Amino acid sequence: MRFSALRVLKEGLTGNKGWTPHWRDPQPKDEYDIVIIGGGGHGLSTAYYLAKNHGLRNIAVLEKGYLGGGNVGRNTTIVRANYFLQGNSEFYSHSLKLWENLEEDLNYNVMHSQRGLINLFHSDGQRDAFVRRGNSMVNQGDDAILLDREGVREHLPYLDFEQTRFPIYGGLYHPRGGTARHDAVAWGYARGADERGVDLIQNCEVTGIDIENGKVKGVQTTRGAIKAKKVGIVVAGRSGQVAAMAGMRLPIESHVLQAFVTEGLKPVIDHVVSFGMGHFYISQSDKGGLVFGGDLDFYSSYASRGNLPMKEHVMEAGMTLMPMIGKAKVLRSWGGIMDMTPDGSPIIDKTDIDGLYIDCGWCYGGFKAVPGSGFSFAHLMATDNHHAPAAKYRLDRFRTGYGLMDEEGTGSQHNLH
Ligand SMILES: Cc1cc2nc3c(=O)[nH]c(=O)nc-3n(C[C@H](O)[C@H](O)[C@H](O)COP(=O)(O)OP(=O)(O)OC[C@H]3O[C@@H](n4cnc5c(N)ncnc54)[C@H](O)[C@@H]3O)c2cc1C
Repeated sequence: MRFSALRVLKEGLTGNKGWTPHWRDPQPKDEYDIVIIGGGGHGLSTAYYLAKNHGLRNIAVLEKGYLGGGNVGRNTTIVRANYFLQGNSEFYSHSLKLWENLEEDLNYNVMHSQRGLINLFHSDGQRDAFVRRGNSMVNQGDDAILLDREGVREHLPYLDFEQTRFPIYGGLYHPRGGTARHDAVAWGYARGADERGVDLIQNCEVTGIDIENGKVKGVQTTRGAIKAKKVGIVVAGRSGQVAAMAGMRLPIESHVLQAFVTEGLKPVIDHVVSFGMGHFYISQSDKGGLVFGGDLDFYSSYASRGNLPMKEHVMEAGMTLMPMIGKAKVLRSWGGIMDMTPDGSPIIDKTDIDGLYIDCGWCYGGFKAVPGSGFSFAHLMATDNHHAPAAKYRLDRFRTGYGLMDEEGTGSQHNLH
């Protein structure tokens, strides 16, 4: 089934009776060439690109809950390519290019909106750091414009320019940055993978990984044993637990990150705004809700909810930056489990176990990475070679110390990234 304006019109006039389910609900087979553990954004995009780019068909995605019920449906939907360090900048640059063609590629409206992202700075030192970041982005072929205080005022007149604690010196503007509808991204990849023959199996939790003589043989699940020649672990905040099934101890801590949404309002914020000094960022969804968040809750947890002190902190930061949002009523808040690495950069690599691969460590920035990660991880799983834009995401950097990418310069403490 393809979507088109004509089809939408026809269905609208005939009672919407012609739509069919986006994907099948198959029983798991006894054996697959490739099993992907985790039906989040990264697992689904990996399956899609394995089928589309590498012609592989005998693939299953095993999801313990429902597709898109994890972080891919819980994030604040920011998509950007504004990284500073080599290793990260080419990866996110590649991912953003995939985003720019994603709707056509998937024939699915993921509501990708390049409304522009502005990162504010509040001191001379921060300005210098953003100048360097902007130059690095431009060198990578992406876009960055340095705004002074008046330049920021032109774009974001509603900010409090009189506040004295963190006076606004300017901002780094990334016009190609923006947002997308998060669950539509999961649904679009799921539909594309299913169309190409991938079995998407929900309510199927992986409970063990079978390994013989250093080689992966398959997985144990709540729906029985499934044999596989290759297995990919793509379970975000649960990476430590699932990798432990294969006897691995990852350099990852799981932390809670909260987000908030207000009642629907008329358009008022037409960019993504990030206020690093106060740990606050915001955009407005197409439904009108102000979507915002801040920092991690600062303790390790597998709970999908956060605590009141961080809520208070985020609200205070928001009120400091744009007091007008105090009039809006917050409708919902929630949390997601973040797979934090010690340098804040992800892992896409083989493991020491033959046929077992891992894609994790996306911290709080893995939504924008969904296309790039799936593309690169599929390349690695299909060819056993690292895909160039993701070639630096090696697991052993945490053991050897070579190739660490501490993007934020905050040292090795997981919860500071
Ligand atoms: C509040 C919040 C705001 C965020 N904001 C942004 C943002 O603005 N921009 C951005 O780029 N990123 C953002 N992120 C980060 C981003 O959402 C994550 O990095 C990314 O979604 C993680 O990858 P995923 O989609 O594959 O994860 P998930 O969707 O969590 O997928 C992992 C899946 O694995 C499944 N699973 C786990 N264990 C098993 C098992 N044993 N067997 C089978 N299945 C299993 C889970 O059920 C889950 O569905 C945010 C995250 C949160 C929580």
